[in-house]
Amino acid sequence: MNVYDSERMAEALLADGHEAADENDADIVVLNTCHIREKAAEKLYSEVGRIVVRARDAGRPRPTIAVAGCVAQAEGAEVMARARAVDLVVGPQAYHRLPELLRRQAAGERGLVALEMPAESKFDRLPRRSARSASAFLTVQEGCDKFCAFCVVPYTRGAEASRPLAAILHEARELVDGGAREITLLGQNVNAWRDGSLDFGALLAAVAAVPGVRRLRYTTSHPRDVSDAMIRAHADIPQLMPYLHLPVQSGSDRILAAMNRRHDVRFYLDLIDRFRAARPDLAITSDFIVGFPGESEADFEATLALVRQVGFAQAFSFKYSPRLGTPAAERDDQLAEAVKSERLARLQALLAEQALAFNRSHVGRTCEALIERRGRHPGQWIGKSPWLQSVVVEGEDHAVGDLVPVRLVSAGPNSLEGQRVTNDATASW
Ligand code: SAH
Ligand code: SF4
Repeated sequence: MNVYDSERMAEALLADGHEAADENDADIVVLNTCHIREKAAEKLYSEVGRIVVRARDAGRPRPTIAVAGCVAQAEGAEVMARARAVDLVVGPQAYHRLPELLRRQAAGERGLVALEMPAESKFDRLPRRSARSASAFLTVQEGCDKFCAFCVVPYTRGAEASRPLAAILHEARELVDGGAREITLLGQNVNAWRDGSLDFGALLAAVAAVPGVRRLRYTTSHPRDVSDAMIRAHADIPQLMPYLHLPVQSGSDRILAAMNRRHDVRFYLDLIDRFRAARPDLAITSDFIVGFPGESEADFEATLALVRQVGFAQAFSFKYSPRLGTPAAERDDQLAEAVKSERLARLQALLAEQALAFNRSHVGRTCEALIERRGRHPGQWIGKSPWLQSVVVEGEDHAVGDLVPVRLVSAGPNSLEGQRVTNDATASW
């Protein structure tokens, strides 16, 4: 979502007369920040330091520095105090105001802070989409009311809110007009999306029906918001790619309860079974947190057992990071860093094994690769398979946005090699 927000900020600035510049000679630098884990938040301060030093070393005046995103939202005043070089801060629900704030800053105003969460939607104030890439993001839902014990999102992104269907379809058409062939619907809990009586299953069908949308994806979904219609969509909508990111966090019922996830392991595994029944070749990915307060070795082994049972195509895994203001950070049974690191290494080894096995299981299959960019070598292109694997395709006559029929001929941990085949070969896919 930060990638999407950054694109929209860039579009707002372009529409206000700014030009994109190399970071080494930009007059204005906007740092869009993430607050989800401490490490992500700390990056802000090292980055500000780097910008200041680089300008000084080059004998240039320091650029105007704006801090956007969830660190701005959570620690706006602190950011201003700690990093003197920061000129203004703007939260994730107020970034449509960035052009105005920069104008005021240029006119001499100081200490500008925009952290309101207005009732009116920022989306109504932003210029039309101008992003030109084969694959585009589209935010449909923001915020969260679930309050997992470890998580800052409900505080930084605010309450759960859905964009109206009409606004989403309008943006989808703009993206297609700009050259997008694939759209990924975004939300902190994307499948909590609602518009009147319409639910997420209906949204998938409506976006898939926009002419020119060849591929449709979504992320991130929450197990508790999965509906029958959403599962059925994977059987019924040809444009919906066989890919599901469904975070589970832990394989221990005790830890899931302590995390306030409000479902157990059985519930998650049942969902996976139902999704796989609808779409047997589904690539399933997830998020995991290791070392949540009170997590025992047995709890952690239950997570490994769940991973073995499901068989993931990919996954994100993190050491638990205590976040100020969240209930879990207050607990007195925090785990030692060394224990968290050791568990993360074991989990990641298993997940890497599964990712490689998943890629290898696709060797010999034919599919379409959506060409996204040129590869490192001449005549080489990088595309995406339906299962979101990177596919390296040779051939001079491709272009970004092409859907190229390929046979997958070899696989590594991070990508596969595809050889172009005739269109007929993918007909069975
Ligand atoms: N709404 C999604 C997740 C959004 S946050 C869901 O509920 O599944 C993205 C991921 O960041 C989470 O799935 C979690 O794995 C990780 N995360 C969030 N807070 C964290 C924390 N305090 N420490 C470590 N990882 C965290
Ligand atoms: Fe955070 Fe997701 Fe839980 Fe919401 S549902 S509090 S975004 S982890």
